[in-house]
Amino acid sequence: MIITEPVHTSPLTSARQQLAKCIDILGIDPGVHERLAYPDRVVQVNSPVRMDNGSTKMFSGYRVQHNNALGPYKGGLRFHPSVDIDEVTALAMLMSWKCSLVGLPYGGAKGGITVDPRQISVSELERLTRRFTADMILIFDPQKDIPAPDVNTSPREMAWIMDTWSVNKGYAAPGVVTGKPIAIGGSLGRFEATGRGVITMTDELLRFKGRQMVGTTMAIQGFGNVGSTAAMLGHQQGAKIVAVSDVFGGIYNPAGIDIPAAMLYSKANGSLAGFPDAETISNEDLLLLKVDVLVPAALEAVITDQNADRIKADFVVEGANGPITPAADAILEKKGIIVVPDILANAGGVVVSYFEWVQGMSQLFWSEEEVNDRLRRIMTRSFSQVANLVTTRDLSFRMAAYSIGVGRIAEALKVRGLYP
Ligand code: GLU
Repeated sequence: MIITEPVHTSPLTSARQQLAKCIDILGIDPGVHERLAYPDRVVQVNSPVRMDNGSTKMFSGYRVQHNNALGPYKGGLRFHPSVDIDEVTALAMLMSWKCSLVGLPYGGAKGGITVDPRQISVSELERLTRRFTADMILIFDPQKDIPAPDVNTSPREMAWIMDTWSVNKGYAAPGVVTGKPIAIGGSLGRFEATGRGVITMTDELLRFKGRQMVGTTMAIQGFGNVGSTAAMLGHQQGAKIVAVSDVFGGIYNPAGIDIPAAMLYSKANGSLAGFPDAETISNEDLLLLKVDVLVPAALEAVITDQNADRIKADFVVEGANGPITPAADAILEKKGIIVVPDILANAGGVVVSYFEWVQGMSQLFWSEEEVNDRLRRIMTRSFSQVANLVTTRDLSFRMAAYSIGVGRIAEALKVRGLYP
């Protein structure tokens, strides 16, 4: 038997390939292509942290600001061992396209710390987050660059960042991060926003294809904020969630998993492993299930040219950023599998981040219904703009979404001109 090692496709190479393809379609000026292929600013800090045992350890952290033609830089911070400049740059590019596509007055950024938060204590994590924030004090700013949660970060970390930045500046600055706890100016609905958007986009796609949510079978990889919320809302709306997984592996029940019970189980046990009434399934095999909708909602590059030809779902909705490599995208397209791209599918998070920022600046807070309603309107409007291009220009959903997102930034760069 030949064992093929998965080929590691660099996330930045993938992001640049997708950009080049879109530039070709739009016939954009090579100078604009050049500007969009590189980030505006790359910042690395090495933050010293006093560990619980008295020793000192350095942690590398990054912030990449890709482009701010449309407004302040915006994007999450992830805490993960695979975080490096290449990955963060690729994710910052995606944030630029995403904010532009859904019509937010933001540019794109991303950041992170190379750390496995499970391997350090909560107090070490707090000291690390606070020192990282202090080291980035000139970078983060409510008018310049606004971080938010991403992989392994949550309202707790955002509160530490808001507090550290505010203490150092001498005034309370809730606008410096989004995804904060409600008690310090977070928005109702922000926590669920990304998963909610994923399900809204799934619903729109099913309708576009003359199908419906009720009875649709779904497999969801990842049970963090995005995956678990998508599973819960999909379940509530009548979809049959047959498989879900977390970092430790997955669970599968062709008759449908009781998602509320799985949420409680995962909370109580720290993982889905051992959940009753389901078989065990690996993260790799979950992707290959014959389901109507597959939602990769964990990390990037999980569907590659090594497994794309074995994907059996009718539709893939990208909850994660960059889960499908360009080579895999081409294979899925040939197989007739429709992919709702990350920059549309998971844009709900940054949309409600924007609402949080606006509510904070105006000191006027909205009800959860109002937040959810405005979110739904932005998401469905964006879907129909993309679907319209899919139909009229015969583009994939990814290239249609890119054309809108990249096209608006290109236009902004053109009218702003090049200084000096
Ligand atoms: N990390 C999320 C994303 O990738 C949210 C970013 C934000 O809210 O700024 O879209």
